Amino acid sequence: LKINVKNEANINLKNEKISYKNCRMILQGIIDSTSKIGHINLIREDDGIARKINPFAVYKDEFYPHLALKVGVDYLNKTQNIDEKNFFIDKNKNLVLGDKKIPLDNNGFAILNWYGASGEYNSNSFKYIPLWKLEKLAYGEEVDEVDKILAQNYFKNKIVYLGVSATSMYDIKSTPTEKNMPGVELHTTFINNLLDNNFIQRVPVYIDILISMIIGLVIGYIVLSFNSTVAASITSIMIATLYVICTTWLMREYNLWVGIVLPLSIALFTFISVYLVKYFRKSKDFEHTYKLATTDGLTELYNHRYFQEQMIMNIEMAKRYENHFSLILIDIDFFKKFNDKFGHQSGDAVLKQVAQTLKKNVRTTDIVCRYGGEEMSIILSNTTSEEAAHTAQKLCKAISERVFDLANNQKEHVTISLGVATYPQNGQTPQELIEHADKGLYKAKENGRNQVGII
Ligand code: GH3
Ligand code: MG
Ligand code: MG
Repeated sequence: LKINVKNEANINLKNEKISYKNCRMILQGIIDSTSKIGHINLIREDDGIARKINPFAVYKDEFYPHLALKVGVDYLNKTQNIDEKNFFIDKNKNLVLGDKKIPLDNNGFAILNWYGASGEYNSNSFKYIPLWKLEKLAYGEEVDEVDKILAQNYFKNKIVYLGVSATSMYDIKSTPTEKNMPGVELHTTFINNLLDNNFIQRVPVYIDILISMIIGLVIGYIVLSFNSTVAASITSIMIATLYVICTTWLMREYNLWVGIVLPLSIALFTFISVYLVKYFRKSKDFEHTYKLATTDGLTELYNHRYFQEQMIMNIEMAKRYENHFSLILIDIDFFKKFNDKFGHQSGDAVLKQVAQTLKKNVRTTDIVCRYGGEEMSIILSNTTSEEAAHTAQKLCKAISERVFDLANNQKEHVTISLGVATYPQNGQTPQELIEHADKGLYKAKENGRNQVGII
């Protein structure tokens, strides 16, 4: 019963999956009476399905053949002279039996190529006949089907397995094809695959990883370079579908099993993560563009356009909620002279610092803008004319008290003049409100600057 295995591929044949510690005793009588004995152990995968079969079992460090292997080899021996005691695994992990090959995986398992009892391979596959029917026949009782089968010489030139099927395998579906008799189907499939030279070969895992990386790169490139999300999604789905079709074709034509789960998981993962990265980058770009479009580069205050928009918005809001808001216009005093005296660069430095001081002295909800040149404006939402005048006074004082740093380490004081307008009493449109505040500003200039002009 023992056999020798020459293992040139160095497959880990003595691994725990095919090594048995507790084998049932085989009656010596049976061993003596026939050579066609082998183990019949089957191994299910974690999901309960048996997809592979081990041609060898290891018991106490010795190799024993699977019963189906033994039967298949015995059948082949009619035409080919195969050494039944010495088996050979070549460098490519193929168990070589004459002109037939059984590709083995790293644990010494053969991957079955299921035909099922019926279907395209029916004539080459198997037929299950319940033992009780044969028994009835043996007792002379008539059973239509069995009669018919025997009458047609059904068993001629066939391999016949006779025995009881393992009841432990009845209760759940253990093979991908037939609902019943999984043990029978496993054994017959193994023999049929051997005779047809038709086992499935799993490509090495590193090829799956390589394919996954390529698919990941392609999907990543598509998501990044396509502007339309719909187009990127459709193209990615097409690539995934094409890949599944290719793997199916390889399986049908060459019995090659190329992984699907890993490459498609990587594809999905890449799609989602690259899409998210792209989305965040886009929204950051948008924020940046928005900032550029709404702020002034020198002072980092809101620009004139944003100011105009906000004036309209505030009027609309105040109108709807019957509320009020105020506007302050600010102009730096004698700034032309300042520029002439200290230079344009110092002028710019002062503009920046004035902007900071204004921002610091108003509420965060107030909108401070660069109206143009050295003129600035502040929209104070929900603010009465008294409150606005008070704020304007506060700003005037804050600027006049601050010492400004100029470009060449000099320090100077500057002052501002301010005008105030409040919606609705001083105007109904941005134009009217600005004109009103401008009048106040003019009045402040007239009265000697560094003050708030109230009309
Ligand atoms: P006043 O307002 O008190 O009547 O006198 P002023 O000299 O400030 O008069 P006006 O407001 O008409 O002059 C504006 C000056 O502000 C002109 C220009 O030299 C200066 N200015 C405008 N924009 C900038 C800027 O971006 N940088 C600098 N450095 N100066 C600017
Ligand atoms: Mg001015
Ligand atoms: Mg001025």
